[in-house]
Amino acid sequence: PLVLGIETSCDETGVGIVRGHTLLADAVASSVEEHARFGGVVPEVASRAHLEAMVPTVERACDTAGIALRDVDAIAVTSGPGLAGALLVGVAAAKALAIGLGKPLYGVNHLAAHVAVDQLEHGALPDPCLALLVSGGHSSLLRVGDVTGDVTPLGATIDDAAGEAFDKVARLLGLPFPGGPHIDRAAASGSSVSIDFPRGLTSRRDLERHRFDFSFSGLKTAVARWVEAREAAGEPVPVADVAASFQEAVCDVLVRKALDAAASEGIDHLLIGGGVAANSRLRAMAEQRAGDLGIRVRVPRPGLCTDNGAMVAALGSEMVRRGRPASGLDIPADSSLPVTDVLV
Ligand code: ATP
Ligand code: MG
Ligand code: FE
Repeated sequence: PLVLGIETSCDETGVGIVRGHTLLADAVASSVEEHARFGGVVPEVASRAHLEAMVPTVERACDTAGIALRDVDAIAVTSGPGLAGALLVGVAAAKALAIGLGKPLYGVNHLAAHVAVDQLEHGALPDPCLALLVSGGHSSLLRVGDVTGDVTPLGATIDDAAGEAFDKVARLLGLPFPGGPHIDRAAASGSSVSIDFPRGLTSRRDLERHRFDFSFSGLKTAVARWVEAREAAGEPVPVADVAASFQEAVCDVLVRKALDAAASEGIDHLLIGGGVAANSRLRAMAEQRAGDLGIRVRVPRPGLCTDNGAMVAALGSEMVRRGRPASGLDIPADSSLPVTDVLV
């Protein structure tokens, strides 16, 4: 089936077109530059940008795929979680297309889509697989049987998301928003062992209650204190070393807990998804440590880790393939949709 997917949960207007597991088009328009000077995404600005970008992005995706809209067999759209006003634009556009074309509509979960997208690159997902979902708003460990419905959370962050920590630390270091890619780049020329930053929820006591949970707010505070002390002493801040040491602390905990979860569940495939999965150190470290345990790692290419429409089309395509019933035309935009609600 030919599926068109629409993503508008944050600041990327994404339209993807897939046939089965084959990616035909992935058009993305981002309003990130409009938010950069505010140091974070401004919801109202994002909603307006989606409204302006929607039709041109749909057209661009169809051109790239070499298809006409009437060829599409189903429409998929992110129903949540995300910014309410931003989601509304995508959901309204998807409903309009579904009505106009007379095709079924699938309202899907953005987080599950971050997992499903890997099928476009590495083929069908193994059942089960252990997913480490790390993005701007979420950090979770999930046991995924069937990505269209069988998703069990094993743990999650108890405070900041991993991407949020990257963005906050970048800001502290005077790097632009969104900070993840800038920290990644700065870290390349720094030493990851120069500063020993804390690994949240890894003490024996914390592991008793929070074995598969994460905490990044203490790490963020530790970095802030370290930078303040430097500045108070009138010494320059070694940005590359701080970035590398911070990044090492985040990746160490993510990989350690993900592999522990996989081993304890008896799962030999680790899938990493979400914007932070684009991080070069996270990818390399997971690959290296998993190899020693005989666990296979799957990570989509960086461009498919950050928000895009292809991920939504990929999940929609899987819904069609597995014969899941389409959503009604009354699907909501649900800003706090739980990860276990894959199809709305
Ligand atoms: P969610 O998926 O939880 O709703 P979101 O959709 O806003 O959040 P994504 O687009 O999935 O988030 O991910 C964006 C996050 O990924 C940002 O916090 C960004 O800094 C981070 N990120 C992107 N590239 C990298 C990188 N190379 N290294 C670390 N973090 C990165
Ligand atoms: Mg974004
Ligand atoms: Fe996302």
